[in-house]
Amino acid sequence: MSASGALRLPSVDGVLRHPACLPLAQRYGREALLACLRQLLDELRSSVLNGQLSAIEIRPEVLAGRVGERLAQQQRSQVRRVFNLTGTVLHTNLGRALLPEEAIDAVQMAARYPLNLEFDLASGKRGDRDDLIEGLIRELTGAEAVTVVNNNAAAVLLTLNSLGARKEGIISRGELIEIGGAFRIPDIMARAGVRLHEVGTTNRTHARDYEAAINPRSGLIMRVHASNYSIEGFTARVPTAELAELAHRHDLPLLEDLGSGSLLDLTRWGLPAEPTVRQALLDGADIVTFSGDKLLGGPQAGLIVGRKELIAKIKKNPLKRALRVDKLTLAALEAVLGLYRDPDRLAERLPSLRLLTRPQADIFAQASRLQPLMAEILGAVWQVIAVEALGMIGSGSQPVARLPSAALCCRPQVSKRLRGRCLLNLEAALRALPIPVLGRIDDDALWLDLRQLDDEPAWLAQLPQLQVDP
Ligand SMILES: *Cc1c(COP(=O)(O)O)cnc(C)c1O
Repeated sequence: MSASGALRLPSVDGVLRHPACLPLAQRYGREALLACLRQLLDELRSSVLNGQLSAIEIRPEVLAGRVGERLAQQQRSQVRRVFNLTGTVLHTNLGRALLPEEAIDAVQMAARYPLNLEFDLASGKRGDRDDLIEGLIRELTGAEAVTVVNNNAAAVLLTLNSLGARKEGIISRGELIEIGGAFRIPDIMARAGVRLHEVGTTNRTHARDYEAAINPRSGLIMRVHASNYSIEGFTARVPTAELAELAHRHDLPLLEDLGSGSLLDLTRWGLPAEPTVRQALLDGADIVTFSGDKLLGGPQAGLIVGRKELIAKIKKNPLKRALRVDKLTLAALEAVLGLYRDPDRLAERLPSLRLLTRPQADIFAQASRLQPLMAEILGAVWQVIAVEALGMIGSGSQPVARLPSAALCCRPQVSKRLRGRCLLNLEAALRALPIPVLGRIDDDALWLDLRQLDDEPAWLAQLPQLQVDP
């Protein structure tokens, strides 16, 4: 470019004085605007010297526009809503359960106003935050007492440390599991100060194995629900009732980590059976731990329920203070638990249960309706069909069970060599939408499982913005 030598980048003030900067200063503040503008001008300086920019590209209003885009980008929150079309309903990486309106209202209230978090309104004295939900949990599970912590991992850690520190914890080799995010039972036990005493084998553990392991150093027997895998074939497991009887005969507490756990029998909604908290307690488990945001359908929390004197011991552990839940969680949890008092309407009111029980025919009808639109937007390179698909509950509930669902199956009509790249491009384009859309790649196709496509209008509205690289 012949005139490049004569081009000069405007000064910071030169751009700032331009009227286009006024709304930016108002919106983002003068300091942020100035910092962003300085940075942009610094970046452009060498390009101008090298003659890589035209006179138009460095006009103040153009530069102000670029600064505006950057500021908007910087201001955009990092915590973002997405569409979970992966087929996994309680997806740990996507925030697990969605809260019902009742819980959202409760969270808003708790966020906005002071509240009786640790204050007993009846006596006017200091209260205990667990008291706010204890009545409900006792009613729903039959437990004598309750305490709540940050998540179920914390519940397991706290329980083990409170009841078994410096003693041996007896557990079946078939239950020494790892759950996502590097939560491994042997490691948690070690961190809790409990010496692991493993018994039996991976596939078979008998009552006599537990019996033989009991010695004067024994502190507890632990049972862990094998949430995310299943052992089939030649297996043996001691029923909880029998194990509880054995534990109590030796004066040891039986802990049961149910993982997901459920407050109600899910088979009434046609879902695979999960052990209920009430049943585990009836069978004789002394302490049961479970998550708030798995099948329960509430906020992230870890619930510890069971015998009164053991719960009292757990609550006295100084770690309880470090692992406690906040007011927003408690507010949400109480509201969610309240819905369980009316099981007949639970599937309408609790989003996770509503989504889990959505009929396949319903999802398939939605897929058929959306198929032509998706096909048109993706163009000739893609074959889009509405198909039946299999999803899962997620979060370690029923790892083998599949939820009959339906999906938009997008298959690139290109040579085998190009297929992988094509699929990754579509996946990236869907992620780049204002509300990122997350599906899954399987069998040379991208699947959008529609079980969780509740907000169809928002999904449709942004679809025309989809830009897939060829
Ligand atoms: C999920 C799970 C945990 C961990 O619960 P978080 O609420 O995710 O901390 C612990 N034990 C079992 C058996 C689980 O399934």
